[in-house]
Amino acid sequence: MRVVSLGSGSSGNAFLVEAGPQGRTKLLIDAGLRARTLVARLAAVGVLPSQLQGILVTHEHSDHVQAIPQLVKHYALPIIADPQTLKAIEQGLISGVWRSDSGKLVSSRTKDKETTAVAQPLFTAETLLASSPADLALVARGVLNATSEPATTTIQQPLLARTSLLAGVKQMFGDIEVSSFAISHDAVAPRGYLLQAGGCRLCLITDSGEVTQTMLEHIQQADLLILESNHDRERLVRGPYPWSLKRRILSPTGHLSNEQAAQAVVNTWRENGMRWLWLAHLSRTNNTPTLALESMKEYLRGAHANLAHIRISALPHTSGPVWDSTQLWQ
Ligand SMILES: [Zn+2]
Ligand SMILES: [Zn+2]
Repeated sequence: MRVVSLGSGSSGNAFLVEAGPQGRTKLLIDAGLRARTLVARLAAVGVLPSQLQGILVTHEHSDHVQAIPQLVKHYALPIIADPQTLKAIEQGLISGVWRSDSGKLVSSRTKDKETTAVAQPLFTAETLLASSPADLALVARGVLNATSEPATTTIQQPLLARTSLLAGVKQMFGDIEVSSFAISHDAVAPRGYLLQAGGCRLCLITDSGEVTQTMLEHIQQADLLILESNHDRERLVRGPYPWSLKRRILSPTGHLSNEQAAQAVVNTWRENGMRWLWLAHLSRTNNTPTLALESMKEYLRGAHANLAHIRISALPHTSGPVWDSTQLWQ
């Protein structure tokens, strides 16, 4: 299994997971970057969007789904998510309006205009042509002429290739077994994921206001754990955010603090074997990579955990790092 962070934080989240012979199964977890940026970061690690088997979506906030309108339009990639999240994404595709993580509504139509204004095309003529019959069908149904107001029309037929994944159900996607579980965030059906392939396991949890027993059970199993470490509580409370936003971030359906992340790792500590930990979704305003790392290490030392058994990285907002499961057996 190879895992690449393509971006992490409130400006956009996406991970590439590859498994099987020659990494033949390729999935994205979230597609929350601008489509052009996402395609460029995939290209930098040797992957074309057309090689992806699907996009697993954690929840419908724009920092997790921003590229989906373009990826669906030009590459017809299947979206894999909870049925309620799929419905929210379909509504976003129709209305062009998405909810950001801070609760504001953002329009993907404005971003489309920005993209088309750039001289160099993002997609080849071939893929644009391939997508045009579907576009024509949408125009005929009045969907593409819709204004940026939220749509009130009912969806008559699915706009995207979709696979429903219910929490607690295991499903194979090529060489990767995926199971999803509920997390706690102000979205319609937020999910964490556990991915297994070739004897190793990746657990991903971002955007959760609290850590539940179910989450701990999944964290416990991970060789690579990608865990939100959003903010330093003190910095958030004293920082510049309006109180309503601070209250939301601190709530049980907000985001995990450095301290909450550390407690989750301490509560699931095991001495046998090496584990990797990527601290994810760091706030630019209320955290720093150094603060997140130091906080985690301090908690682990306090719990008398042997730090030689864990490799911790704080994820940058840009792409990197890369994890390869062959490290497990070295
Ligand atoms: Zn987010
Ligand atoms: Zn969110």
